[in-house]
Amino acid sequence: MDRNMLNFTVGPVMMDDYLLKENADQVPYFRTPEFSEIMLENEKLLCEFLNAPSGSRAVFITGSGTASMEASVMNFFNKDDKLLVVNGGSFGHRLVELCQIHNLNFTEIKLEYGTSLTEDILKKYENSGYTGLLMQQHETSTGVLYDLKMAGAFCKKNNMFLLVDAISSFLADELDMQAMNVDAVIMGSQKAVALPPGMSFIVMGKKALDRVQNNNMTTMYFNLQDYLKNQERGQTPFTPAVGVLLLLNSRLKNIKENGGAKAVIAHTREIAKYFRDGIKDLPFKMFPQSPASAVTALTSTNGKSAYDIFTKVKDEYKIFICPNGGELKDLIFRVGHIGSISKEQVQVLLDALHQMNTKGEL
Ligand SMILES: *Cc1c(COP(=O)(O)O)cnc(C)c1O
Repeated sequence: MDRNMLNFTVGPVMMDDYLLKENADQVPYFRTPEFSEIMLENEKLLCEFLNAPSGSRAVFITGSGTASMEASVMNFFNKDDKLLVVNGGSFGHRLVELCQIHNLNFTEIKLEYGTSLTEDILKKYENSGYTGLLMQQHETSTGVLYDLKMAGAFCKKNNMFLLVDAISSFLADELDMQAMNVDAVIMGSQKAVALPPGMSFIVMGKKALDRVQNNNMTTMYFNLQDYLKNQERGQTPFTPAVGVLLLLNSRLKNIKENGGAKAVIAHTREIAKYFRDGIKDLPFKMFPQSPASAVTALTSTNGKSAYDIFTKVKDEYKIFICPNGGELKDLIFRVGHIGSISKEQVQVLLDALHQMNTKGEL
């Protein structure tokens, strides 16, 4: 397997050179004050990059993003809740499935693929006893960026808990927990954080912490009370993906030294714009109404199969773009803008796509 292909997917994505180098080192023993110190710093920096209210906490779960989605659903909610779940694609659908599996009382807001959540849609659910809203910031399957500020204001007005899956949007689009009134945020290691997969993180504000402490969970691995207690001293209940957490520390400190989360977000936006400007003469239509910076979701205006385009780019040009699964497989392919990507690298992809266009393959 060629591990050095250009990679414009949404995860795993390309890593910076200093991380690749560090990733070659041994994985150390971790029940030590030295590792604890690093973990406390990880917690501090995640909270800082989200502008989390003071007193917020972070936990580190070994498992992909979905593990933290499930832990959140299990720890923040119970049978007394009445929830609203936004489903605009595969990841919204995953939140719906989690609520079903855990027997929660919920109403699904099913959006047409590629469309935004509007104030008008939410208004219908006002004053109806809802206690929480679960949604993505960026529905990665369709590329839609939801308006979290609007959703947060709705939740504040209706005294609802707001849980946001920001797995693909953290460090790609702005997320300000205080300004957007978000109670808990889920992140993963292999999207814009641009590390190997294996870890996910949850940052919790006061309301989230209260919910965790007052809930009765029947789970061992996903009991957040246990994670919070251990993280007080910079540890986790079980062996974490130690190597990824050490890389996380290097990555977060590097970001902090180079202008903070804002700088990564600005770079992502710039890369996305460079790509979007570069495809204006190609037979593509941008799929979503309000596109996120992390990804450009495209359909062929010539009706060509999106999956065939993905396969050709992979096999003939040795470049990964990102296919879609399920119903969207032949309709949408995506080009990611997260991870360690330069304009020169985007240009290689643009050249490949233009060559394919000349050959009538798009
Ligand atoms: C990638 C992603 C996930 C989780 O995926 P994992 O494969 O479990 O890491 C969840 N939500 C969104 C929005 C994502 O982009």
